[in-house]
Amino acid sequence: MTSIIRARRLIDGTGAPALKDAAVVVEGSRLVTVGPAREAANTRGETIDLGDCTLLPGLFDAHTHLSFNYGDDLIGSSRGMPPEVRALRAARNIRRDLKAGITTLRVTGEREFLDVTIKKAVEQGLIPGPRLVIATRGLAATNGHGGETPGNAVDGPDEMRKAVRTNLRRGADLIKLLVTGSVDSPGGHFNCGFTREEIAAGVEEAHRGGKKVGAHSVRPEDIKLCIQEGVDAIEHGHILDDECIAMMVERGTWLVATLAIAIDEHVLAKDMELNPTFADVEWLPRRRAARESYRKAHQAGIRMACGTDAMHAQMAYELESLVGAGIPPMDAILAATRNAAQLCDIDHLVGTLEAGKLADVIAVRGDPLATISAMRDVCFVMKEGRRYDTLSPE
Ligand SMILES: [Zn+2]
Repeated sequence: MTSIIRARRLIDGTGAPALKDAAVVVEGSRLVTVGPAREAANTRGETIDLGDCTLLPGLFDAHTHLSFNYGDDLIGSSRGMPPEVRALRAARNIRRDLKAGITTLRVTGEREFLDVTIKKAVEQGLIPGPRLVIATRGLAATNGHGGETPGNAVDGPDEMRKAVRTNLRRGADLIKLLVTGSVDSPGGHFNCGFTREEIAAGVEEAHRGGKKVGAHSVRPEDIKLCIQEGVDAIEHGHILDDECIAMMVERGTWLVATLAIAIDEHVLAKDMELNPTFADVEWLPRRRAARESYRKAHQAGIRMACGTDAMHAQMAYELESLVGAGIPPMDAILAATRNAAQLCDIDHLVGTLEAGKLADVIAVRGDPLATISAMRDVCFVMKEGRRYDTLSPE
């Protein structure tokens, strides 16, 4: 089956300027041609003419979780919930993601290996959802962020090695370490749970298994520790000083930006309910620094991907936030497409619209390079050659 999808503009995700009056030709699950519409004029097949829309690669949410949604849950609200209920919520959340044009999720920590189950369910066609790149359990110090979650706590280099190996055995595509504290961390929110030796052991085991390490790290001192020990991606990294930025440039460390969640008033209010003293200690310093940190990181040429941190279906909000911080619209879009695919080591398959790659294609009404909010108006979603914009809302 061949489909010809035409639109007024095409952003191929390679960084090339938008192409006017473009078409992609899809055969089965693959893109066979990408280029000017006139070149596809003689191709036989089903023609889908989207008019004044922009074709783009399927989006990545490069930092998310499955079973809670920041839009309607508190961060702690999935605690104590039966696993079956969490699985159903995960299915709801990822369906929303897919309908919003997000065709790949990088899941940065999920309890009890739920992400393994959900990934299989999607691959087997049991539920519609994006492709999942999964960290399985996020690993934390007993007194660190996430350390109370059953199975997450890891203390000492030996336990770290064992935990990384267990995650890899269960199917982890990346390893997630929780380094800086957060709303749920006892003994001070802004603590660093892990020692240098623990981080080093985790990185060594992950790299021996051929996988990258992403570290939840927010404060400069924790970020530097992670970079020095070979962590591949700084998750959040809301407070970057000049030394952090220089080290990330030198080492080629990734920044996984999560800006919308840091500046969102609703999320702040929800976290204040959970822990009233939290705002002064962590959120306010993060919020004050985040835009400037990301703008400087972008200017320095740090490799950047971005995610919502479980605000499902809200990648447009993240892109708007990045553009609001001074990042050009094209570079924000690249952070959610090509760059994220590189971060996930699947850029040979997805992340750009190029002949031979999997047909993850979306379209938005209007021109997101002129008005980034156009990314909210997704009117076409294809993942591996199958359409999902026609899914019912829930
Ligand atoms: Zn997260």
